[in-house]
Amino acid sequence: MEETYNVKAIILNRKNFSEDDSKIIIYSRDSGKLELVARGTKKIKSKLVGHIEPITLSNIMAVRGRQYDYAGAAASEQCYFNIKNDLDKLAAVGHAIRIFNKIIKVGQADEEIFELLKNFLDVLNRATADKISFELLSWLFIFKLLVKLGHKPELYYCVNCRAKILSAGMKFDLARGGLIGAECSAKIECPNGLTISENSVKLLRLAEKNDFNKLSKIKINNKGKEIKNIISLFLNYYV
Ligand SMILES: [Zn+2]
Repeated sequence: MEETYNVKAIILNRKNFSEDDSKIIIYSRDSGKLELVARGTKKIKSKLVGHIEPITLSNIMAVRGRQYDYAGAAASEQCYFNIKNDLDKLAAVGHAIRIFNKIIKVGQADEEIFELLKNFLDVLNRATADKISFELLSWLFIFKLLVKLGHKPELYYCVNCRAKILSAGMKFDLARGGLIGAECSAKIECPNGLTISENSVKLLRLAEKNDFNKLSKIKINNKGKEIKNIISLFLNYYV
């Protein structure tokens, strides 16, 4: 008898596998990232295909195979139509999911990471552009993901002297993993220190502490250029 198992998962990517089949990469709540072959998805009458589109939350019954596991059946629970029908949202999510897929390895289950991804998609699905830019929200998702993966930067005390960060002039020191106060950054060698404004520090602190429901409700006066740059360099430094 075929051995099957059920997973609740978010579809990250779908690519061609053979003439009729595709391979999907999913992030499941209970088993982490998995790759499944989906048979017959290039046939017009495929019942499976709508339920395994990227950026969909689905309940999937998987079948164990000798070489690959297969998606036997799938039922979508949330299709995130507001993301798929908005080019700006789609671009922001596409970028975030590409990074997610790159840094998350197959088979490391972490329910908190599943919830983080789901929360990000749920909130972006209903977000409006007047409060926060979608691209900035996606960078904050990457930041929160790095924190969950153990790369939590020090945002309150100087990484050199442990004094409380008070004034402007601090830097974000990639090598030391957090903020370095103005005095220390002038005194010591700090080749990986990035200029960071008080406004950006505030936003990183907010992002570290709050989920996307709360973040999406805060009026954020930050164009995000500096913060995108810092998070992207932070990502490249640690991953
Ligand atoms: Zn210091």
